[in-house]
Amino acid sequence: MRTYNNATEEKIMTLNEDGELLCPKCSGNYLHQRGVGVYFRDKEDSEFGINVNVTKEVTHTTRYLTGNPSPRRDGFIATFMCEFCQSYVKLCFAQHKGHTQVSWEE
Ligand SMILES: [Zn+2]
Repeated sequence: MRTYNNATEEKIMTLNEDGELLCPKCSGNYLHQRGVGVYFRDKEDSEFGINVNVTKEVTHTTRYLTGNPSPRRDGFIATFMCEFCQSYVKLCFAQHKGHTQVSWEE
């Protein structure tokens, strides 16, 4: 098992021995992909850009960036449903200056 922590030692992401992503709530390894949201700003700090949200049922595109995990730049979110605890959890990737930050939004 490999666990990735941030600078303050908060658990960011855990993979089991087979490289499978584990649920941040119950550590279950049956996470089902339910959607992806992608956010690109027109330029740094712009409140507009391109936002595409895709699920099995629908694709939605807008110029509004509501939900962008990055407060100033680009980002994307993968939403999963845990088969064990039935939680919907979001794995977020946020551009911050030259870095990419990873976190769970529950
Ligand atoms: Zn779970």
